Amino acid sequence: MQAVVDPPLPQGPLSRKLERFASDHRRWLPWIHAGMFAGFLVLVVVPLALPAPGDGARLFHDFTLTANFLIWGLWFPLVFVSVIFTGRSWCGVLCPMGASSEWANRIGLKRAVPRWVRWEGAPVVSFIVITILAQTVDARTFPEGIAEVFGLTLACALIVGFLYGPGYHKRTWCRHLCPIGLTLGSFSRLGIVQFAPKKPRIGGEALTDKGVCPTFIDINRKQESRHCIECLRCVQPNANGGLAIKLRAPGSEAANVRDHHPHNSDIWFLFLGTGVAIGGFLWLTLPLYQQIRHALAVWAINHNWLSFVSPGPAWLMSVHPAGREVFTWLDFSMITGFMLATSIVFAAALSVCTALGSWFAGRLGADGNFRSRFLELAYQYLPVAMVSLVLGLGSELFALLQRGIGATPTRYVELALFTAGLVWSLIIGCRLLQRQGLAGTRLVLALAPGLIGCIAAGLAWWPALFGV
Ligand code: SF4
Ligand code: SF4
Repeated sequence: MQAVVDPPLPQGPLSRKLERFASDHRRWLPWIHAGMFAGFLVLVVVPLALPAPGDGARLFHDFTLTANFLIWGLWFPLVFVSVIFTGRSWCGVLCPMGASSEWANRIGLKRAVPRWVRWEGAPVVSFIVITILAQTVDARTFPEGIAEVFGLTLACALIVGFLYGPGYHKRTWCRHLCPIGLTLGSFSRLGIVQFAPKKPRIGGEALTDKGVCPTFIDINRKQESRHCIECLRCVQPNANGGLAIKLRAPGSEAANVRDHHPHNSDIWFLFLGTGVAIGGFLWLTLPLYQQIRHALAVWAINHNWLSFVSPGPAWLMSVHPAGREVFTWLDFSMITGFMLATSIVFAAALSVCTALGSWFAGRLGADGNFRSRFLELAYQYLPVAMVSLVLGLGSELFALLQRGIGATPTRYVELALFTAGLVWSLIIGCRLLQRQGLAGTRLVLALAPGLIGCIAAGLAWWPALFGV
């Protein structure tokens, strides 16, 4: 059967205006990147030189607390929310690390990207390592932890950018390894902004180091949002070729993912990566964690394993006697083990639900094979995962809201968002099954395992978001 390519979607007047504005102002990007880099250094480095905040220190009266709030309370959750409205604009327009990596590439060796970097699991591993490290060094509390996590990420972005990426101004780090890029890329499939080829070519999504795209996208064969960092380099309103900016319904790429290059690494991130993130919240709240930790500490002391209950190196774990937090090897092992175990259990539970949904759908007459249906149906968990992450990471933002409107209304807002995430997941699940050819009772039956999976994902987040 001959491969065909769909005709390009029409571009509305608002999209045309956006495209014109973006194209006209692209020249300012280097200045924005420089400003963001300076701001990044101030937020990460200055708190290291300041005395630790005292017990009575208040949020906007102490720079260390302010910097912490701006990074974790504002930047992190808002960057996730921004992908819904503007796609990966953070990456292309604002991120100082991506811009640094590209700058390093300009003066660097431009070697071919090795296979281990191109391995589709590489960003998932990078996400898991950095998420666990952020917990063990307690980057959410101490400036040393923030400096280590972001300093390490920046160093990796610079080194990878310097070494790899043949062609014109490439961002190998952003395409293949960045843990934040992986997250934003997967969630950008829910977003309303699309950069679509004006002259689409058959053959499907492909990598190329020729052309202008810093993330190696063969722009005429572009099908998915995941790797597009919205650098605007390929957007020329008056040209016949390149990409055009278009607006679409929220979640439409996820719901029609069969047309947008569904990919294993999205699923690994959704199942394993989100699971490790849940573990990072749960170990702080679950009494069971403290009970196991206490039992292990008693066991280690009784067996004279004193080094196991002694502090380790400060680059690997939080050692802050003045801040009343000193992690031992026991804490390091417990946090790491707990987060990995949570990730595996979460991934196994969602895999079982998705496999059941895929199997049921096949029995009920859905098209495709088990694997293709599994891959598509896994995308139904994108909204619930994203909303839960935003609520978890935005706890400081919601604490601020609580001070403004009170505890109960804030809790209602959080519950409403949480429910919206669940409902959105179910809507996407329905539309995925419709595309597989199901309707009516058969669709409802095939959706049931997905519903259980969404509820399981919600319940896994519940103690972290709303307490036990
Ligand atoms: S992929 Fe990572 S380093 Fe690259 S621009 Fe996005 S957040 Fe920044
Ligand atoms: S597809 Fe275009 S806008 Fe997207 S990253 Fe590549 S060059 Fe930039």
